[in-house]
Amino acid sequence: MADPLPDLSILRRCWPTYADPATTHPVRVNGTLFGGAKPVVIAGPCAVESYEQTRNIARVVKAAGCGLMRGGVYKPRTNPHSFQGLQDEGLEILARVKRETGLAIVTEVMDPRLVEHVAQYADMIQIGSRSMQNFPLLTEVGRTSVPILLKRGWSATLEEWLCAAEYVAMEGNRDIVLCERGVRTACHWSYARNVLDLNVIEPLRRATPLPVIVDPSHATGQWTLVATMSRAALAAGAQGLLVEIVEAGADRSRLRSDAQQGVPPATLEQIMAMARENRVPDPGVPAIDS
Ligand code: PEP
Ligand code: MN
Repeated sequence: MADPLPDLSILRRCWPTYADPATTHPVRVNGTLFGGAKPVVIAGPCAVESYEQTRNIARVVKAAGCGLMRGGVYKPRTNPHSFQGLQDEGLEILARVKRETGLAIVTEVMDPRLVEHVAQYADMIQIGSRSMQNFPLLTEVGRTSVPILLKRGWSATLEEWLCAAEYVAMEGNRDIVLCERGVRTACHWSYARNVLDLNVIEPLRRATPLPVIVDPSHATGQWTLVATMSRAALAAGAQGLLVEIVEAGADRSRLRSDAQQGVPPATLEQIMAMARENRVPDPGVPAIDS
């Protein structure tokens, strides 16, 4: 028998408004609602690489009917010699594309000292898997009023993930969307980058009213698996998806990060069609001691 979860303000147990597991704390990002009847799709490039690439992808995102565009400008890279993102220049590109398309911007921040700066550009701030337990960073983003996309650390338990969200909530910001992005096991790229843990969605949704979405791109590392895993995630109760895309006809050999995992525009359209058809199911029977 697992230990019960500690008392956290983001648990239904401690947040009486959302005692009923069929309810979700709504998180609004510009015109888009996480936690409604329809799943939300966030789409965009892994990294902002140039204005032209970002604008072309933004047009695809907009035409597909997504309201939110992702794009990394501070990239958490394993190898310090790899492309680290366009940083300030990338933020300016995102701001320009936002002005031109009206899309809301989701982008990652890694450094607590840059939170205030990034918050001026981002409509939603992403905390990446590698930063899930960067407690000063969680505290800092908790002090903003910008909605937070909190990705699961790739070896984090459900309890550790919820405790990370609590660091943000404790500072006053409860507009947090949780994102499952695959956990690491022994598969190591032989067929997929990570193992997509769809088991976690239902227990998580029962434990907390915060919306839960899935990133099938980083979970698989392989664009050909992304549509199938999107379908599986929606069936498992995901309230949205985070999907990396590439430009139509992109030369993957020229992409500077996660070259194999962005789906082409046609696949994004398929995923959007799935999301439109799908009504988010309520969580089912109790699965953990929450
Ligand atoms: C990302 O979404 O850009 C990213 C780096 O993902 P993760 O933190 O899940 O690895
Ligand atoms: Mn990526």
